Amino acid sequence: MSYDPQPTASHFIDGAYVEDTNGTPIPVIYPATGETIATLYAATPAIVEQAITSARKAQAAWAAMTGTERGRILRRAADMIRERNHDLSVLETYDTGKPYQETSVADATSGADALEYFGGLAGSLTGEHIQLGEDWVYTRREALGLCVGIGAWNYPTQIACWKAAPALACGNAMIFKPSETTPLCALKVAEILIEAGLPAGLFNVVQGMGEVGQSLVTDARVDKVSLTGSVPTGRKVYAAAAEGIKHVTMELGGKSPMIVFEDADIDNAVSGAILGNFYSSGQICSNGTRVFVHRDIKEAFLARLSERLENAVIGDPMDPDTSFGPMVSERQMQIALDYVAKGEAEGARLIYGGKRIERDGFYMQPTVFADVKDDMVIAREEIFGPVMAVLDFEDEAEVMARANATEFGLAAGVFTQNLTRAHRVAARFEAGTCYINTYNDAPVEAPFGGMKNSGVGRENSKAAINHYSQLKSVYVRMGDVEAPF
Ligand code: NDP
Repeated sequence: MSYDPQPTASHFIDGAYVEDTNGTPIPVIYPATGETIATLYAATPAIVEQAITSARKAQAAWAAMTGTERGRILRRAADMIRERNHDLSVLETYDTGKPYQETSVADATSGADALEYFGGLAGSLTGEHIQLGEDWVYTRREALGLCVGIGAWNYPTQIACWKAAPALACGNAMIFKPSETTPLCALKVAEILIEAGLPAGLFNVVQGMGEVGQSLVTDARVDKVSLTGSVPTGRKVYAAAAEGIKHVTMELGGKSPMIVFEDADIDNAVSGAILGNFYSSGQICSNGTRVFVHRDIKEAFLARLSERLENAVIGDPMDPDTSFGPMVSERQMQIALDYVAKGEAEGARLIYGGKRIERDGFYMQPTVFADVKDDMVIAREEIFGPVMAVLDFEDEAEVMARANATEFGLAAGVFTQNLTRAHRVAARFEAGTCYINTYNDAPVEAPFGGMKNSGVGRENSKAAINHYSQLKSVYVRMGDVEAPF
């Protein structure tokens, strides 16, 4: 490996790095230069078996510990992540290409928040006591057993922690399979958890493409699957999990609306649109990529947006001044550029960007289309790149119907100074996460997840506990048992 803080082998199983060069090689490409910075190997069936066996072996003793004991380890890991934020952020930038300006505040730190929050919650997980006259029922909140986490490539540290923290807090073991595009960061999370005192086997990381994920999902010893990925992958993984009646959490894609009313503070709305379209070079599931702007302020909004985009600092993602970096891969950049071509062919007005940037790595310009119509491909499909579609509207009822006319339901935002309108619109959005006069905040304290095809289940917050534990009811009779014969 060419860079020091990088992990030393492909997999992390039973408390240690494990290598098996018989697996398919996975080149790790630094998106800012296109250089291969490491080569990892996909898990062979023997590696998958080792990961499952070690996780199952470790889980029962972990579940038997008190929540406070489990939580202490998670909180220690959170502190260590914060202490090592710089190195972890550099690694995140190597993995994803996202600017250090972002990774140093949004990735390892968000992972640490999850470990701290669920570590804090672990000691207060309880069942219930239900009185039935002289008799009663009590419920035990029990772990599910072995959970599998499968990650997308946009937030490799955060996704690993958002899944591991509630799973471990509830007494489960987890095997995590990162995206093959960004395999490095989850290994560091595993290393830190062990250093913080997590018993071996409880958080194993195995690398591989979709088929490694599939072999985990279909294994009878796995009790739950949590996927962050696209809707098509979600359909496959959900169906495979259904075969074994496994618990699932599905965090899938989106094409979220952002509505800017005529009374909105234009600068704040432009800031929201920038955050919701160009942060992480647009590679965020909850992005508000359909920006509906009231006709009366449309030109003012577009003019201000174009001015603000001139301030983007595009360049070396390791430079702390850089605020817009490359896309994760040549392939993802090409997908986004193809959508730009489709937008132009469909007659949308390209008002900013649209081109690949002539330099090494996978850079394209932040791109804005105006005069976008609802039926255009760029208004219907998730692009997962820095391409904003601006659509006009005139009244609230019309824009609500159009905003909700999508298979997705991950997020939605509204910018207005009118308090009652803001809450009315938020109530009518068909989306799991809604924003009023802001966009894309994701604090660990609040539930995060999708409606409609954007997913099932919720990550973060106390809600996640219900997705990583199950209730057992225990009936207790004080008197004699009556039977019919
Ligand atoms: P993919 O759906 O392509 O992949 C997601 C993960 O699933 C990868 O690790 C992939 O492995 C794995 N996988 C693929 N096929 C299977 C299978 N049959 N069985 C098990 N695992 C499989 O998503 P991307 O990585 O391209 O990420 C982008 C997508 O993720 C976007 O749609 C985005 O909206 C969504 N996303 C959703 C978020 C949310 O919280 N709702 C957050 C972030 C992203 P590999 O790629 O290595 O082959």
